[in-house]
Amino acid sequence: MNKKRLLFASSEVYPFIKTGGLADVAHSLPRALNDQYEVTVVLPLYNAIDRNRFKIKRIESFAVVMGGVSYEVELYGTLYEGVEYRFVYEPLLCDREFLYGPPECGYEDNALRFGLFSYAVTELLRRDTYAIAHLNDWQCALVALLVKEDSTIETECVYTIHNLAYQGVFSPSVLAQIGIDESHFTMERLEFYNQVNFMKGGIAYADAVTTVSPTYAKEILTTEFGCGLEGFLHVHRRKLSGIINGIDSDHFSPSCDEALVEKYTDAKGKKPSKSALLKQLGLKGSTKPLFAFIGRFTEQKGVDILVEALPKIVELECNVVLLGEGEEGYHDSLTALAERYGNLSLSFGYDEVYSHRMYAGADFLLMPSLFEPCGLNQMIAFAYGAVPVVTRVGGLADTVKKVEMYDENSPSGYGIVFTSPTARSLVAAVKKSCELYGDKKHFEAVVNHNMKCDFSWSESAKAYQVIYERLSK
Ligand code: ADP
Repeated sequence: MNKKRLLFASSEVYPFIKTGGLADVAHSLPRALNDQYEVTVVLPLYNAIDRNRFKIKRIESFAVVMGGVSYEVELYGTLYEGVEYRFVYEPLLCDREFLYGPPECGYEDNALRFGLFSYAVTELLRRDTYAIAHLNDWQCALVALLVKEDSTIETECVYTIHNLAYQGVFSPSVLAQIGIDESHFTMERLEFYNQVNFMKGGIAYADAVTTVSPTYAKEILTTEFGCGLEGFLHVHRRKLSGIINGIDSDHFSPSCDEALVEKYTDAKGKKPSKSALLKQLGLKGSTKPLFAFIGRFTEQKGVDILVEALPKIVELECNVVLLGEGEEGYHDSLTALAERYGNLSLSFGYDEVYSHRMYAGADFLLMPSLFEPCGLNQMIAFAYGAVPVVTRVGGLADTVKKVEMYDENSPSGYGIVFTSPTARSLVAAVKKSCELYGDKKHFEAVVNHNMKCDFSWSESAKAYQVIYERLSK
């Protein structure tokens, strides 16, 4: 029997281009679905993507008319790990220093850029028959609207919210430029406090809406986490569900990770990685617990809390290593702290290899997030035997169980979990972590247990499949 065709659209996909978890998901979920469906993944061909390395070849070009202007879009393609990729190239969309803009703000013409991407994706749906289009975040949201507008396209749209904090909100003047009729600019559709909200359009027009963890699916219906869309999401709650992300167990596995100084399969095997990391960073004390933070330096990730808590944390017998990039204010305060304390190391930038070495070398991974749709870091930390220290929100609540409840027979991963996102709670959680670390036998048992837990896509891919099948019957 012929497999159904699935078009998976994302504004970033690992290993071609990545700024965060979306890229990981857009790589690993289609891979997990590739046996059941004929999957095509589509993304913009940003100029930072290495065309030679990935053998990306030009296929054809076609015109896309948006807001009365004709754009010549070039389509490129490659096959990677058995999955078919299509890349959309047009200078307006692709020839930029950053994907979405500098850390502080998005590019002014992002509505046009990702409007154009959405038109190009819709054109692919028009040319070939796809049972399902799986659209991700605000950058692809307009596809759901454009598909509904075109009676020749029979594709069903699944829309996934990876982070409700980024909705793609623009001035109403963009409507004419992106060729969207004023009739869509209503409270039930695109209008949001007199602005155009792309994500709202995705939610309104898609046939099913998912987000990336069951807890976040509930949280976003509340004023605390709903980012102004809670009421609207409530209206659409029947088509909303939460499916936890998985991680690619081939890519995130210390037993075969070429980035590591020495591969390993258990807690004891982490030693060379820890020693090498401490040596590289000029930190002393391989018997002290090593805490790591890897992520965007933003409010969401709890960096305010971290900055406030660090002077107390570094007074404890431990080392702390931080890797990330983000807002300038955070760079300044973290730099000042790193200059003051000898047991605190700080690196700016995005570095895949170094991040893997950090997961491998660290005893604990700090994630004091204020909100966390799913979070992949804690699952990667489990795989590499770093115990996560997390706030009980979103996907963290779904994936990290309190170590006090440790049960060696449970399939859950364990960590230090705290409820209120404050510096005080974080310091208390770090103290608790140090105590756990002091109980060597128990600590090692927890690490070994976590490393064996299954955070692969196998179950979650099935949950997506159930939605696809329900829609495309
Ligand atoms: P986000 O909200 O940023 O998408 P996730 O937890 O979903 O957070 O995913 C983050 C992904 O990005 C993980 O694979 C993590 O290891 C990686 N990552 C984040 N910051 C960096 C960095 N500075 N260098 C390397 N990898 C990073």
